[in-house]
Amino acid sequence: MTATRRLSWNYALDRAVEWALELGVPLVIFEPLRAGYRWASDRHHQSIIDGMADSAHRLAHSSVTYYPYVESQPGDGRGLLSSLSQRAGCVITDQSPVFFQSRLLEAGKRAVNCRLEAVDSVGLLPLAAPGRTFSAAYHFRRYLQKELPDHLGSMPDSGPLSTKPLKGLEGLPEALVDRWPMARFEENAQGRSVLVGLDAIPIDRSVSAVASIGGETEARKRFCAFVDGGLSRYVDDRNHPDLSGTSGLSSALHYGHISVHEVFHSLTEAEGWTQSRITPPNDGRRQGWWSMSNSTEAFIDQLVTWRELGHGYCHYEEDYQSYESLPPWALETLEHHSTDRRPWLYSHEEFEAAATHDEIWNAAQRQLVEEGTLHNYLRMLWGKKILEWSAHPREALDTMIELNNRYALDGRDPNSWSGIMWVMGRFDRGWPERPVFGKVRSMTSDSTRRKVKLTDYLSRWGEQVKLL
Ligand SMILES: Cc1cc2nc3c(=O)[nH]c(=O)nc-3n(C[C@H](O)[C@H](O)[C@H](O)COP(=O)(O)OP(=O)(O)OC[C@H]3O[C@@H](n4cnc5c(N)ncnc54)[C@H](O)[C@@H]3O)c2cc1C
Repeated sequence: MTATRRLSWNYALDRAVEWALELGVPLVIFEPLRAGYRWASDRHHQSIIDGMADSAHRLAHSSVTYYPYVESQPGDGRGLLSSLSQRAGCVITDQSPVFFQSRLLEAGKRAVNCRLEAVDSVGLLPLAAPGRTFSAAYHFRRYLQKELPDHLGSMPDSGPLSTKPLKGLEGLPEALVDRWPMARFEENAQGRSVLVGLDAIPIDRSVSAVASIGGETEARKRFCAFVDGGLSRYVDDRNHPDLSGTSGLSSALHYGHISVHEVFHSLTEAEGWTQSRITPPNDGRRQGWWSMSNSTEAFIDQLVTWRELGHGYCHYEEDYQSYESLPPWALETLEHHSTDRRPWLYSHEEFEAAATHDEIWNAAQRQLVEEGTLHNYLRMLWGKKILEWSAHPREALDTMIELNNRYALDGRDPNSWSGIMWVMGRFDRGWPERPVFGKVRSMTSDSTRRKVKLTDYLSRWGEQVKLL
């Protein structure tokens, strides 16, 4: 498990169970965590470790062997997969379209001598289905309305390990676990599981762990709380930072601790929904096609349309991170306006330290640094202002990528590039031309202040909060 880090609603796990039963062999779930990935920090590590401790706890008395492994030094894990798979009947891994997972898959192919399968549990629509990318959410929504119903009939197993008679393994080879010891966890004073030896791993210590706990159990709790609480008001509350009207699931989705399939299934159960309620035409409209409540439809539009639009893009476009990957109209207009006088000009360091003249922007940056989250509406403004106040759009892109992926719990995700590139025109259309932005959509703090409720937000994240 490298992307879909959960024990349920996971096609890769279903496939592994299927093979274990077919071959009559034990199932070993191997969950590694490297030390040398970009933006590795206490924050990202702890979220994944939370999930590992959760899985270890849940599998403690199971016939399945769970092998969590955390590299002590970059490169320490080299050779592990090859040794571990020496006696394996086959190896199943999970597919993810972004970051280092695709490189891991290539390395996996070289390391493993037996059959290796990569299984996609990323979204409701299989990544391979469309065979192409989409330039806007509207086009993708139209496509989904035509094609998605065919993929809703089967869902991953909600409890693949609880019902199947899996054979147990007496133990992993001693030489293997001597060389690559299984991760061990202990409780800290706050009752949170921490990795024994975490302090010695050379990762970014300045980005500290946050209160929000990772792992499948916590993710499910968060989702249930949202269904019982904010979901019914989502359509009205989601844009207001004061109202905490969104699910807060993005980091759980990012780490693979919760599945879109599970979320979608629960929503349809709660609505008593069946496919017979779908209301044609398949014209890409945002409301009314599902025939669910307005709030559930609005939520599914983010969870499925927007999320899978970006995941698909990263799957098909290797170059998804580069400035040059922007749509030609956006590149042209940004370049044309790149020499416009900026109303304010800040360096990466000034942005990072929340040292701009703008109260709302600084508050958003403080929340990002301190809490590892950023409300979606303010995140759009945050990005638009980095674009406006940087010397060149390229520099703005670098700043957004660095700050988002370093500090956001949900960073380093296909959605990260969707959001950041949306700021610069991807998945959007041209707007009336303005200085600096050109035809790329602009946003202002003044209109944000007028449109959204953020009094409490500003008193929480205002100037009094000192960064790091
Ligand atoms: C500059 C910028 C950077 C962003 N970086 C990230 C990032 O690193 N990781 C990330 O997950 N999202 C990112 N987003 C998208 C969005 O801000 C977050 O997904 C959302 O705020 C997460 O909060 P939530 O889980 O409460 O969302 P909810 O409103 O509850 O939505 C449910 C889920 O739908 C998906 N979703 C919601 N909005 C979007 C969107 N605009 N695009 C794609 N998927 C969406 C997410 O998976 C989210 O968890 C970024 C947006 C911008 C403008």
